[in-house]
Amino acid sequence: MSLVVQKYGGSSVADAESVKRVARRIVDTRKQGHDVCVVVSAMGDTTDDLIDLAEKVSPLPPARELDMLLTAGERISMAVLAMAIAALGQEARSFTGSQAGVITDGVHGKARIIDVTPGRIKAALDEGHIAIVAGFQGVSQDTKDITTLGRGGSDTTAVALAAALEADVCEIYTDVDGIFTADPRIVPSARQIARITSEEMLEMAASGAKVLHLRCVEYARRFNLPVHVRSSFSHREGTWVTDKPVESTQGAVVEQPIISGVAHDRSEAKITVVGVPDKPGKAAEIFQVVAAAEINLDMIVQNVSAATSGLTDISFTLPKTDGQSAMNALNRAQEGIGFESLRYDDQIGKVSLIGAGMRSHPGVSAQMFAALAEAGINIEMISTSEIRLSLVTRAERLDDAVRVIHTAFGLDSSDGEAVVYGGTGR
Ligand code: ADP
Ligand code: ASP
Ligand code: MG
Repeated sequence: MSLVVQKYGGSSVADAESVKRVARRIVDTRKQGHDVCVVVSAMGDTTDDLIDLAEKVSPLPPARELDMLLTAGERISMAVLAMAIAALGQEARSFTGSQAGVITDGVHGKARIIDVTPGRIKAALDEGHIAIVAGFQGVSQDTKDITTLGRGGSDTTAVALAAALEADVCEIYTDVDGIFTADPRIVPSARQIARITSEEMLEMAASGAKVLHLRCVEYARRFNLPVHVRSSFSHREGTWVTDKPVESTQGAVVEQPIISGVAHDRSEAKITVVGVPDKPGKAAEIFQVVAAAEINLDMIVQNVSAATSGLTDISFTLPKTDGQSAMNALNRAQEGIGFESLRYDDQIGKVSLIGAGMRSHPGVSAQMFAALAEAGINIEMISTSEIRLSLVTRAERLDDAVRVIHTAFGLDSSDGEAVVYGGTGR
């Protein structure tokens, strides 16, 4: 007998019928003799709907109350799922994140898990019950307030619980058959990946492939926990995120490709600080202001200002959700730093090519730029890491950019289109 942690995403539990279907799957796993702990997300687009509701009553909802509101989404699904399992004659107990022992720091909206104390979950499992845990939420160690882990955070709840319970595997059930070489909603010819290393998956997730939450991959890597991403709508083998080589069904060890995939991100905006005095210390002043507002930057470029000599322009990208506070903070600092003006652009998209083989293969960037040039897509910013190349384009050309790069690197599948079983892609 083994202990399995299963996580079901929002599109897998979008309505009553889906909840019943998922309940049957869970009961089947239990009947095979496994102990089962389930992590569940809010039903369908509930989280987005709750955010819309909050924004209707307040232009800038207080972070504590927003977390209180959003965690209600997962509370609904955990209780409904426990009822559906009970209706199939199995005992299930639901727990909020706090009850499950998910302890976080106090940063509302993007809290980090600092400890997991799953005493109540262990007790429920010992009694033979199926434990259902609300994903995406925890309780702050300091303030005792309820926190959320950031969008997509249920994946992280699942891996953190799996590590704390010393589970044999963490299964992430979603609306596609696994991890593909690109988002199948944009590239239907994307190919399913049998196994991906945590290093590559970290870059994919950090570059916007929302199939797994970034922190979940970090966590799994730290605890050396294999993660199996698969569909809740089919029984097909999914994708293994693991650093151990896995064998294919034919018994051969799956070969490591040069490029693992193309990721895209439309959640970022670009701020340009125009006319910065070209003197040592000015960039530091700008980024201290941004850091003090607790904003994580992504790409940064500096150009000689087109307008006046002795001045430079500094552009950087950041999450759109932080755009307003970054602009406010910089506006307040304008006089002190002495720049001319600020420009805000939220019509950008980022496309990234990821592959561990890039380390030892020259020419990847030239090939990527050539593919975009041929499609007439302009590149606005570039950044690289050892195993990733990211570019900023206009938002309206992003989907095209993903497709042409996918094709240029020979990633298109020759056997049929990828299946998207559900979800709205929101
Ligand atoms: P869930 O509700 O199950 O958490 P998400 O919407 O968060 O599901 O993540 C699954 C979605 O991730 C897929 O429907 C797909 O559109 C998107 N996605 C983006 N990049 C990839 C990729 N490389 N492989 C698979 N899915 C991807
Ligand atoms: N319900 C949350 C969200 O939509 C968490 C999750 O689905 O993982 O972001
Ligand atoms: Mg998700």
